[in-house]
Amino acid sequence: MIIYDFDQTIPSSHIFHATGGAAEVGEFEDDFFIDAFGGEERILRLQAHFFRLKKRGIELLILSHGWSGVIIESLARVELSEFFASDTIFGNDSDLMTQNRGEKQPAIQELMRDRHLQFEQVLFVDDDWMVVEQCKNSETCRTLHVEAEAGLTENELITIENAFSPS
Ligand SMILES: [Mg+2]
Repeated sequence: MIIYDFDQTIPSSHIFHATGGAAEVGEFEDDFFIDAFGGEERILRLQAHFFRLKKRGIELLILSHGWSGVIIESLARVELSEFFASDTIFGNDSDLMTQNRGEKQPAIQELMRDRHLQFEQVLFVDDDWMVVEQCKNSETCRTLHVEAEAGLTENELITIENAFSPS
């Protein structure tokens, strides 16, 4: 299982901040979303990334402090919806995040407990250093910190794609 942060991890920009924390982004133009995801080329790369992982049967989730509805709308505008059913997206308004007081590390532990997954079977990907450190220090799961404040880079996408390679 791979658990992705949303803002500045899948999109290259911070959609929650760019929209002033709006819970409804239907009025934003498609160009806004294309730019937020780093342009057409990066969107195609993300489609290939998620396709490869899903084809291998790896469960993909999104865990975010943003609004679930905004994440769903954003993914739809750049043709990434097919990789994330609505029950795989956990925004700050989800039951999972609400019940865990908006804290990602216990939310991840709950997701893992529900699925009976161990440390090696889960990769958590986030640009927020603090929450990555929390998962590392508590030995919750494997982690990848998104280094640049511009979303996942090509090298990081490859690292994720190789993280569950059959050996
Ligand atoms: Mg983020």
